[in-house]
Amino acid sequence: MSALKRCVTILGVTGSIGRSTVAVIEEVRARGGEIEVEAITAGGNLAALVEAARVLRPKFVAVAEEGLLVDARAALPGIEVGAGEDAICEAAARPADWVMAAIVGAAGLAPCLRAVERGAMVALANKECLVCAGPLLIAAAARAGATLLPVDSEHNAIFQVLTHPDRVEKLTITASGGPFRTWPYERMRAATPQEACAHPIWSMGAKISVDSATLMNKGLELIEAHYLFNVPPARIDVLVHPQSIVHSLVHYQDGSVLAQLGAPDMRAPISYALAWPDRAVISTPRLDLAALGALTFETPDEARFPSLGLARAAAEIGPKATAALNAANEIAVAAFLAGRLGFTEIPSVARDVLDGLDAGELRQFQKKPSTFDEVRAIDKAARRAAEHAAMAMAGA
Ligand code: NAD
Ligand code: MG
Repeated sequence: MSALKRCVTILGVTGSIGRSTVAVIEEVRARGGEIEVEAITAGGNLAALVEAARVLRPKFVAVAEEGLLVDARAALPGIEVGAGEDAICEAAARPADWVMAAIVGAAGLAPCLRAVERGAMVALANKECLVCAGPLLIAAAARAGATLLPVDSEHNAIFQVLTHPDRVEKLTITASGGPFRTWPYERMRAATPQEACAHPIWSMGAKISVDSATLMNKGLELIEAHYLFNVPPARIDVLVHPQSIVHSLVHYQDGSVLAQLGAPDMRAPISYALAWPDRAVISTPRLDLAALGALTFETPDEARFPSLGLARAAAEIGPKATAALNAANEIAVAAFLAGRLGFTEIPSVARDVLDGLDAGELRQFQKKPSTFDEVRAIDKAARRAAEHAAMAMAGA
């Protein structure tokens, strides 16, 4: 079999997914794969960015914080360096054939689009991109001949077993249940950022950790699956599976159910996307079902975790509502992490923003946004509304 050969760019190289991508690349290189690195980017963690550059030897390095440009240049002699949002987009636009989109939040949309528009293979970890502009991004990929490779473990699982897309009856996305799966609501009200970020299975960035604790992560994933696989929200179920071994299931019209299993380790879906359509040789922990003994499943408690219902409702309304939901959630999670908002108020902010849309707006919201500018306008308006809602709740 021929060795894996790629020219790659990693957007968000210093994050949890970014670091796992570096680990995969190092292992593939050690096994004889030829992975050239075109560009890497980060938000502001310069020390980690410099370390990644030392390992990967990229041609171009971009940091979002403009004030870090001078220090970044000094720390990276012989490498082209840029700073600011445009530099992040420039990194995505450079000619890598595979781009890992692992920036967190809607901030990742513009660079992801740049990679899509030049027809790259885009490994998509940044789910907020799809939640705020799914139909537009997918149409742009079709126009440019780009391939979207889902990295989110659930969507990667579905992608792996989606043998007959026209014969799908429904999808089931599994959820670990997060750190508060068994907590009574009263205890959740007092949850701290530290408790919310202590995920029982996965070690991830702060934003997605909080999303996993509210189950908004599963709500965003439902929307992500709806757009990626063109399955209506009503035919996408969420199932709590605390062991996180079955990563998702596809139910076919003949009653067969195909699932993908594996140890919970993001290097698995990342390496799948990197080697696609082949498979890589990677030393992730192997599954030992006898040692596990039992896999358990339960229905999510939507009363304690209202984010799921909110995401489903937004998905039913349409792409503008999912963009507004995403923006509201980003603001609420940031306020919670900054100690300005209670844990159980996070979904309340998102609900306020969705409820605040008047009937005229709602009719508008049922139509698909036709441009990325429109998405940006919705994102901005929803952020403003969410700031107001969060402030009102904090003052109450
Ligand atoms: P993280 O917070 O650990 O890393 C985010 C990365 O984006 C960092 O490199 C950061 O410097 C960069 N960044 C942040 N803001 C930026 C900005 N404004 N401009 C440019 N760069 C910016 O997050 P993560 O856990 O690695 O998650 C990244 C994405 O992948 C998220 O969308 C998340 O939902 C998704 N995802 C993560 C996991 C996981 O296991 N961590 C699993 C599935 C999906
Ligand atoms: Mg996931």
